[in-house]
Amino acid sequence: MASVLIALGGNVGDVRTTFRKAISHICGMAQAAMIARSSDYSTPPWGDEDQDPFINACVEIETDLDPHALLFVMQKVEQKFGRTRNKERQWGPRTLDLDMIAYDDVSFQKPDLTLPHPRLFERAFVLVPLAEIAPDRVISGIRVRDGLASVSTQGIERLPDTG
Ligand code: AMP
Repeated sequence: MASVLIALGGNVGDVRTTFRKAISHICGMAQAAMIARSSDYSTPPWGDEDQDPFINACVEIETDLDPHALLFVMQKVEQKFGRTRNKERQWGPRTLDLDMIAYDDVSFQKPDLTLPHPRLFERAFVLVPLAEIAPDRVISGIRVRDGLASVSTQGIERLPDTG
C-alpha cells in the first residue's frame, strides 16, 4: 500500500459537504483507507484575489492504485462535483480542486503528473492543513513543519468541526 497525501480546495457552493463526499468517493473508487484528515481551513484567495475565500484541507490515504490511476480517480471526482476545467480562469473560483501532494517517496515529472507536487512549498493553504496531519513527513527533502515555518499563514483560519 502506498501512503498518499491529497490536498482539497474549493470556494463555490457548500465546500465542506463537497469535501466530505469527495473524500468518500476517492476512498471508494481507489479502494483506499483513510489514514488521517485535517480540519477544514478558511484561506484567502490566491493568485486571482477577486473571488471568495477558499476552504482547504488535506487527507492521507493508503491505496494500491498507482499514481496515474489515482490521478484518474481524482479527476473523475473533480468532474462529478462540477469542476469543468475549460470554463475556469486559471486561479479562479472552483467547486473542487484535488492535488496529489506526495505518493510515498515517488519522484517524477511527466506531462500530466509531477510528484511530489511542485508548488507545495509556495502554498501556505496546503502546508497548514498538511502540517496538522503529517508535520514530520519529509517531501522533496523538506520537513513539512519546516516548510510551514517559512511561509506566511496570514488570514488562514481553522474552521470549527461540523460534528
Ligand atoms: P490544477 O488546475 O492546478 O488542479 O492542475 C491540474 C493539472 O495539473 C492536471 O492537468 C494534472 O494532470 C496536472 N498535475 C500535475 N501534477 C499534479 C499533481 N501532483 N496533482 C494533481 N494534478 C497534477
